[in-house]
Amino acid sequence: MSDFEQNFSLHNHSYYSDGENAIEEIVKEAEGCGLAFVGISDHLCLHPGKPGTMGEKDIERYVKRVREIDAKSKISVLLGAEVDVPLTLPEWTLCADLKQKYKFDYFIGSVHPFSSYEDKVRMKFKFDTDLNYVIKEHRHYWQQVYQLAQSELFEIMAHLDVYKVSGANTEKYFVPEISKVLNCIKNKNKIVEVNTSGFYEELVGEPLPSDRIVSGCIKRSIPLIISSDSHNSKHVVRDFAVCEKRITKLGGNVGAVYNCEPLRKIFDLYKENNR
Ligand SMILES: [Zn+2]
Ligand SMILES: [Zn+2]
Repeated sequence: MSDFEQNFSLHNHSYYSDGENAIEEIVKEAEGCGLAFVGISDHLCLHPGKPGTMGEKDIERYVKRVREIDAKSKISVLLGAEVDVPLTLPEWTLCADLKQKYKFDYFIGSVHPFSSYEDKVRMKFKFDTDLNYVIKEHRHYWQQVYQLAQSELFEIMAHLDVYKVSGANTEKYFVPEISKVLNCIKNKNKIVEVNTSGFYEELVGEPLPSDRIVSGCIKRSIPLIISSDSHNSKHVVRDFAVCEKRITKLGGNVGAVYNCEPLRKIFDLYKENNR
């Protein structure tokens, strides 16, 4: 019996991208935690050569493996991917084609503003010395997130304010931009994840996104799911209980997610793809 209600975990990384474990180990852990569904969502990057990501050529093997493991597991193993956005125009088309060709159950859309530790350190330094520079960069970030929100390709919006892992938290400067993004997410019927990995980011110490953004989702009745963004199989449901309490305290109803259409669509598609 677990101390949280959500019986699925959809944002998990394996050896196929930058995770530390095999898919089987993630599934075993999820089973042990009493989940009914676990999703594998390795990084898919269509601009080749980014370390720790899968490229187009790796997909076939990945898909085959996830489906094989699903077939022999007690719990349902969903086929997902965390897709690096922005994409160029041809990459958008390719991404849509790949999703259809390989029958992915869902795509998580992510803007990753830092490609290295040095990038993060530089951003914090700029935050302390040249705020205008950081504001410009972060304005660009929110524009990219808006593009992602508009796209039909993604069911789940990942770690909305992930730029703050550098310690440069500019949220108060972007209240209208964030509202615009949330309105778009609502109109496009997408899910926002509350990502517990933020607890372990030295300069964050809270889930991603912030309580304020989570409240904005609750106000708009945007479905929220909890993700651990695990890179180690031990972390498949890390801090789910704490996070559920936090969302409830903000007035959100975690249980309501089971009745929400975008989530049902993912599970229905999974069933259809595995008939
Ligand atoms: Zn990510
Ligand atoms: Zn991730």
